[in-house]
Amino acid sequence: KFITFEGIDGAGKSTHIGFVAEFLAARGKTVVSSREPGGTPLGEKLRELLLHEKMHLETEALLMFASRREHIAQVIEPGLARGDWVLSDRFTDASFAYQSGGRGLERAKMEALEAWVHPHLQPDLTLLFDVPLEVARERLDATRTLDKFEREQAAFFEKCRGEYLRRAAQFPGRFVVIDSTQTIPAIQAQLSKVLEKLL
Ligand code: C5P
Repeated sequence: KFITFEGIDGAGKSTHIGFVAEFLAARGKTVVSSREPGGTPLGEKLRELLLHEKMHLETEALLMFASRREHIAQVIEPGLARGDWVLSDRFTDASFAYQSGGRGLERAKMEALEAWVHPHLQPDLTLLFDVPLEVARERLDATRTLDKFEREQAAFFEKCRGEYLRRAAQFPGRFVVIDSTQTIPAIQAQLSKVLEKLL
């Protein structure tokens, strides 16, 4: 199975990936945890460029999908072919949220890239960690230095969040929206229930 983790910066998704991996491993599943942009040696080089270099919005979108193409070929498809559970910290929904929702790249272009790079592959489950902007920003400020995306205006994240929620409404079959203002134990209890259903 293929599970993706989504949410704006500071929504807490990284905290919960480890929990999901342990939950599945404890039930005898082989788990591959990965991330985007990144997840492969080339993808990690692209990630460095994406996070630190200024570039045209379309260049950014294309490099995100270049990283994704490599990730699918080297990690996601081989993992699924072996019968492993593949967990990815972000996937194509993040491109819609950030490059289209946040930065305004036409959705049609994103859909064209998606149709090119993975016409048939979709996550079995997408966990969207959702928090109001103020909560996300407090968490980020407290925990680490901000990269170029995180230094953008709050309005930007509000638009990203809106696009995530729009996609969750559009694809209710694979999305589960987690209210990430809950306590960690409450979120873990909810995740356990969702995973039990998938097992
Ligand atoms: O998930 P993570 O926080 O590691 O992502 C790194 C950065 O890349 C984030 O600040 C996120 O805002 C940005 N990003 C983006 N577009 C994507 C994926 C990630 O702007 N498609």
